[in-house]
Amino acid sequence: MSPPLGTATRDRLRIAIQKSGRLAEPARKLLAACGLSWRESRDKLFCYGESLPVDLLLVRDDDIPGLIADGVCDLGIVGRNELDEQAGARARIGLPQAYRALRGLGFGQCRLMLAVPEEWDWTGPDQLRGQGTRIATSYPAILGNWLDAQGIDAQVVELSGSVEIAPRLGTAELICDLVSSGATLAANHLKPVENLLDSEAVLAGPASGFDDARAGLAQMLLRRVDGVLQLKERKLLMFNAAQEALPALERLLQDAGPLVRLPGSNGVLSLQTMCEGAVSWQQLEDLERAGARGLMVLAVERSLA
Ligand code: ATP
Ligand code: ZN
Repeated sequence: MSPPLGTATRDRLRIAIQKSGRLAEPARKLLAACGLSWRESRDKLFCYGESLPVDLLLVRDDDIPGLIADGVCDLGIVGRNELDEQAGARARIGLPQAYRALRGLGFGQCRLMLAVPEEWDWTGPDQLRGQGTRIATSYPAILGNWLDAQGIDAQVVELSGSVEIAPRLGTAELICDLVSSGATLAANHLKPVENLLDSEAVLAGPASGFDDARAGLAQMLLRRVDGVLQLKERKLLMFNAAQEALPALERLLQDAGPLVRLPGSNGVLSLQTMCEGAVSWQQLEDLERAGARGLMVLAVERSLA
């Protein structure tokens, strides 16, 4: 049976992730790569951690900051847009900061942008000054702060969804919404003009740390997350080469890590180096021309820095 939520069971860590949606799958993949595994419950809301005392709560992304603020969850994976919006909303009514982003996770990238009808000539935010413009958004706190910073007194129309059709419905002239490819904006005859926030999924935690067993668990998880994020694009390059070929090979590999020589045989060196980012066919062919043989590119699965 799942333990009751919201109670102070403080020897297990509880992480909130999106139940379904853009962040659900990559969040689970990241946590699985950190060595976590779970037993799914029948209600599909709570997953009991099997490999470690780290449980998952599957919720709507909008609920994650509040669950951390209320101490129902210890950590959460949520878009920076959602976290900043709810932090901004709290600040606007004088509540203290309850959570913070601990790590950017490199997925769920999007931008919160101001968009205007295609036919507008956009000259900059000053254009809105004194016009009584209405801007539809699901991010009233971020937009409100941005407008305040620009000294613009536009009217913020808060909508919970389908923001992009507000200009056509006549409920607002402009919108402020999340954009990734821009296809939704274009389909609604809008164009993005100002970037308010570069967002990605973040691992969020309480503003103050933990003072019990969760502290150690959170620290271990963060270290593993760092390891997974660092390794994402790292490749181990291995090959053999004769001593004379070394200077040319070193020149080709000057952006990689140090070249490690392992004991070889018959005057042939066995070499390896760590490369950041993908190693292309072109690079391999260049190395081969310079004398490298038996080239092999290996993905790095785990490493403790
Ligand atoms: P839920 O049912 O959990 O409330 P949702 O409809 O609010 O789901 P999604 O559309 O799955 O949420 O988006 C979740 C997050 O994905 C966003 O808050 C944002 O951080 C990120 N994201 C990335 N690209 C986009 C995009 N093009 N549009 C909207 N969100 C995006
Ligand atoms: Zn949502």
